[in-house]
Amino acid sequence: MTDRKDELAANLAKVERRIADACAAAGRSREDVTLIVVTKTYPASDVRILAELGVRHVAENRDQDAAPKAAACSDLPLTWHFVGQLQTNKVRSVVNYADFVQSVDRSRLVTALSKEAERAGRELGCLLQVALDAGVSGRGERGGVAPEGVEELAGLVAGAPGLRLAGLMTVAPLTGEYAGREQAAFERLMDLSTDLRRSHPAATMVSAGMSADLEQAVAAGATHVRVGSAVLGVRPRLG
Ligand SMILES: *Cc1c(COP(=O)(O)O)cnc(C)c1O
Repeated sequence: MTDRKDELAANLAKVERRIADACAAAGRSREDVTLIVVTKTYPASDVRILAELGVRHVAENRDQDAAPKAAACSDLPLTWHFVGQLQTNKVRSVVNYADFVQSVDRSRLVTALSKEAERAGRELGCLLQVALDAGVSGRGERGGVAPEGVEELAGLVAGAPGLRLAGLMTVAPLTGEYAGREQAAFERLMDLSTDLRRSHPAATMVSAGMSADLEQAVAAGATHVRVGSAVLGVRPRLG
């Protein structure tokens, strides 16, 4: 094995152990939690190694980086998640490789995703990104729709051709009432998911938890954790 493969294998084993321990502590089955490895800022060669090591879900947050990487890895059995703030002028590119967009947070984006998914002849899984730190503007600092806006936006996605409402996503807030209270934030997301599933029973995905707080997410009931630096290493630049 190459050094990099050894390194990624060891990191992956540690993360896998953390997820398994968190599932055991919460009385959940390990199969109920899916690991998504966030490969942003890392090269396609790392994605290839991860696939060899059994990773099946990867995530990216910038189309400029993700599009060429996904193209270079199109032979691999991977599901691609887009998790970054998304501008409508990037949507046409993103729908070509993304299986899921986890950062749907406004109606204009829903319209654009629907139009381009239809044009590409693809069905796109959509998660609404919930901003638990949303201020009076109704939007979070890092994107996301306020909890009060979830139901309306969910209805738009559910009625949009080419889109499938898959669930909810959040990032633990750095400000506001949930700052430093990751588990409470993730429990709030779970409550919103429970509400959402009353009208949209198939929207079962709950994406929460990153390298620093995956245990809290699993304890709260997350179905998907998004882990970057704990697998790939500390990122060389902000991403
Ligand atoms: C970068 C990123 C992650 C992973 O963060 P780490 O702390 O590196 O695990 C998860 N979710 C989103 C939306 C991200 O942008």
